[in-house]
Amino acid sequence: TPPFDPGDPLGIDDCLDPEDLAVRDTVRAWAADRVLPHIAEWYERGELPGVRELARELGALGALGMSLEGYGCAGASAVSYGLACLELEAADSGIRSLVSVQGSLAMYAIHRYGSEEQKRRWLPAMATGEIIGCFGLTEPDHGSDPAGMRAHARRDGSDWLLTGRKMWITNGSVAGVAVVWARTDEGVRGFLVPAGTPGFSAPEITHKWSLRASVTSELVLDDVRLPADAVLPEAKGLRGPLSCLSHARYGIVWGAMGAARTCFETALRYAGTREQFGRPIGGFQLTQAKLADMALELHKGILLALHLGRRMDAGRLLAEQVSFGKLNNVREAIEICRTARTVLGANGISLEYPVMRHATNLESVLTYEGTVEMHQLVLGKALTGLDAFR
Ligand code: FAD
Repeated sequence: TPPFDPGDPLGIDDCLDPEDLAVRDTVRAWAADRVLPHIAEWYERGELPGVRELARELGALGALGMSLEGYGCAGASAVSYGLACLELEAADSGIRSLVSVQGSLAMYAIHRYGSEEQKRRWLPAMATGEIIGCFGLTEPDHGSDPAGMRAHARRDGSDWLLTGRKMWITNGSVAGVAVVWARTDEGVRGFLVPAGTPGFSAPEITHKWSLRASVTSELVLDDVRLPADAVLPEAKGLRGPLSCLSHARYGIVWGAMGAARTCFETALRYAGTREQFGRPIGGFQLTQAKLADMALELHKGILLALHLGRRMDAGRLLAEQVSFGKLNNVREAIEICRTARTVLGANGISLEYPVMRHATNLESVLTYEGTVEMHQLVLGKALTGLDAFR
């Protein structure tokens, strides 16, 4: 039996297939080379420069629409996709968000609900990263309760006219295609809106204190004329967008543990070298209690993610189980990052160390893809049979 490994105390690597490990190592090496040397500067500037180039490189890695089949997608296992999300978010939640929105929201919506023609038109170029996609569900006045959305589309001859506002849309300003959800006479439908369509613009949202190295935008749609074949034929009702969210949330269950891992590793290293009262702070019981508790939640979270990944690969993953994972892992990840911040003392607030960046990123991750409260209500309903949403 190999000795105790602080990086993998439960021996989880032994449970992973060689292909999963290869994906993990490739994505980790890419992030170390392309993201880590620059991320603090990007974060400080509040930009993601070279996002198109990054998207193409991620496409070349097979990370875009990674677990989708066909149309140039990698067709990897859910576990491989999860590990990729973990490694990307270990670098920065903004990079993982780029990949989640591209693959699990925009591409997934087209793959699952699009016509054959729509799939052929968009998916291969999205898989290579040539075209970036975004997914517009949230509106200024409707976030947790998308059923109240105001965006609407009406038929005009064989065309559609789409009007509305979407808010907080990741990748919006750099997207070549927006998947926009709007109410119609037939219920909520999804529309593929190419960038540059008259009446459609996507101004960037600035002054964010979280996910600063991620493009977040408003989508403005004023009587945008779209052909009949712009609508996703297979999605009718809110079930469509909600199923996409479930897929993206699954990636977050893994991703959050990546941010937590980086913060834990940073704290562990720091505790071993920083000395106060004549000895490394890692030798004090209070610091050890923090490190032990962080390690517990980190590796429990990874085990939970792996369990959900195995269920997804077996076609047995329920939306409630994804809520279980998202609620637990993001909440624990933010706690780990905040605790790591305390271990670093004043250095913890500096951008020279990654912990504050990860902690503030996770404030967004806690809110998007269903807030903590929404997932508590999902689980509360599943446990009691009583709906407390309204
Ligand atoms: P609200 O829904 O107004 O909620 C405010 C608070 O009230 C929350 O704490 C919430 O839990 C609580 N609350 C609401 N209803 C209840 C209730 N019944 N019981 C108890 N508490 C309740 N959206 C997209 O469509 N596409 C994207 O790409 C996207 N990217 C994003 C990127 C970032 C950086 C951020 C911050 C958000 C993004 N979002 C995106 C939006 C995100 O999904 C929403 O912010 C989220 O769904 C919450 O909506 P809201 O902000 O309107 O908050």
